[in-house]
Amino acid sequence: MNNAAAIKKLKPGTIALLGMPFDAQSSFMRGPARAPGAIRKALSSTSSNLCTESGIDLGTSGAWRDIGDLPATPPKKTAGIIEKSIATLLDEDLRVISLGGDHSITFPIVKAYAKRYPLMHILHFDAHPDLYDELDGNRFSHACPFARIMEQGLVQRLVLAGIRTMTPGQRRNADSFGVEVIDMRNRHLLQKIRFNRPLYLSFDMDALDPAFAPGVSHHEPGGFTTREVLTVIQNLRADIVGADIVELNPRRDRDGITAMAAAKILKEIIAKMLGI
Ligand code: MN
Ligand code: MN
Repeated sequence: MNNAAAIKKLKPGTIALLGMPFDAQSSFMRGPARAPGAIRKALSSTSSNLCTESGIDLGTSGAWRDIGDLPATPPKKTAGIIEKSIATLLDEDLRVISLGGDHSITFPIVKAYAKRYPLMHILHFDAHPDLYDELDGNRFSHACPFARIMEQGLVQRLVLAGIRTMTPGQRRNADSFGVEVIDMRNRHLLQKIRFNRPLYLSFDMDALDPAFAPGVSHHEPGGFTTREVLTVIQNLRADIVGADIVELNPRRDRDGITAMAAAKILKEIIAKMLGI
């Protein structure tokens, strides 16, 4: 992350891209710590350009800034550093898009966001609900962030999209927390979704079908096409105040195709946040 003086110079409302190279809370396979660099490389690849589908050139737009990565830290300290760093950026009136990292980063990010945006809503794209009370004895696993968020009452509404691995235990948690689950079979319901509070968008790359995004740790067939996801994002009726893109695992990617999909989704999230 750039120094505080450089961050203070950014205009209010600027979108700050922040890399979070952490994957110690992964349950199956490490690798997402390398994702921020892979997404940046895809974003700046001369094989494409920085234009959104709406025709805005993000290469010349001053509306966003890459502020680098958080430094590597011992796993026990990571969540605290994430929460503090996000709080600092929100205090500067910035909007943050975090590049994970595994999905455990979302809990400390949302902790900071909830102080700034009470009664915020979350739209969470994922093959998995990530609502385990604990996994392998770890309550801060990448399989648990939304259980932690909901039990602390950090947001008013949580909508899950793309789910196709619901377990009975997580179903009970979803019901007890009042989580809205739009599983893959009912994905048409996303077409008309609207949010009337500030929205945080959390995008797990395994929401996409492994055919479109092989570079993830958990291959779960039956997911979204890249096009379906872009259409949902572009048609969202919501004021997005922050987002994350998580769980890209460059070790499993093929020719950078998943990193390219992440960069594409990132560009369209930025476009949505800019209201264009
Ligand atoms: Mn996840
Ligand atoms: Mn997942």
